[in-house]
Amino acid sequence: MIAVLKHGASPERTEHLINWLKEQNLGVHVSQGESHTVLGLIGDTANVDMEMIQSLDIVETVTRVSDPFKAVNRKFHPDDSVIRVGETAIGGGHFALIAGPCSVENEAQITYVANRVKQAGANFLRGGAFKPRTSPYDFQGLGAEGIRLLLEAKKATGLPIVTELMDIRNIDLFEEVDVIQVGARNTQNFDMLKELGKTRKPILLKRGLAGTIKELLMSAEYIMANGNENVILCERGIRTYESTYTRNTLDLSAIPVLKNLTHLPVVVDPSHGTGHTYLVEPMALAAAAAGADGLMIEVHNDPTHALCDGAQSQTPDEFDVTARKIFRIREAMQG
Ligand code: PEP
Ligand code: MN
Repeated sequence: MIAVLKHGASPERTEHLINWLKEQNLGVHVSQGESHTVLGLIGDTANVDMEMIQSLDIVETVTRVSDPFKAVNRKFHPDDSVIRVGETAIGGGHFALIAGPCSVENEAQITYVANRVKQAGANFLRGGAFKPRTSPYDFQGLGAEGIRLLLEAKKATGLPIVTELMDIRNIDLFEEVDVIQVGARNTQNFDMLKELGKTRKPILLKRGLAGTIKELLMSAEYIMANGNENVILCERGIRTYESTYTRNTLDLSAIPVLKNLTHLPVVVDPSHGTGHTYLVEPMALAAAAAGADGLMIEVHNDPTHALCDGAQSQTPDEFDVTARKIFRIREAMQG
């Protein structure tokens, strides 16, 4: 249920109403917009007296929200959420260009790639330390050492870092990580999402391997319902009939659909979304043109020898060109 308050509703009367609603055992999500305050009521609203609330002179409208996702719903928070990460931000016009290798392999590799993507205009460094691999015999990532190397690269470049958490038991290693990635294989690891909801870390939540848009939103709801509002959604392609020429099918329509349904920022990963380097640039540009709040692109110093996902990684030179085009699309979108 949402209650939109009248323009000029006094802070005292608003506070009084919020306290009364909380006494009815409801969670109250307050969104302070430019002209109106929106109260999003979460919990069992079946017995709430809508007419009574509607009759209050500070209330403009009261409506029931039938969608199963509440806190992430744009009806609860009409303005775009802006997720702050140090001095950078994502959402509400702030664009995130996240780039780096699939996996951190060694110090020279990650610092070189970090410097190159920064020069190209990236404002976040990505790199996997804990890798979810289909085969247990493949490179599993450097683990804690990988995080240490990412933090070194952050020190050298100033770029905030994004890296995947696969097991909540490792959360202490992520203390200085700026954005925790939840990978496609863990989108519905609800116990992990609940724990991440108790932190205040920005979470980059990927769409599940064959996940629907609603499932992605419900997973984000798990994080927000537990108190963490810093959620960034990531479209990374889904499993469809096609698998010969593309690794996944990148669902670009998910961008405007999500932007319509939720206030959370939407980032697109054209690398995992397509699986092939030559497809990364066209899909990155299309995603920017479709209104994505950011892009995550895999960049490797030597893709043919990469320990993971070389076939979809750009070289730093290729990324230079793609980044320039992305910024031109962004400019065109603003004009
Ligand atoms: C990744 O970003 O390195 C990754 C493993 O992505 P996904 O979870 O989308 O497969
Ligand atoms: Mn990868």
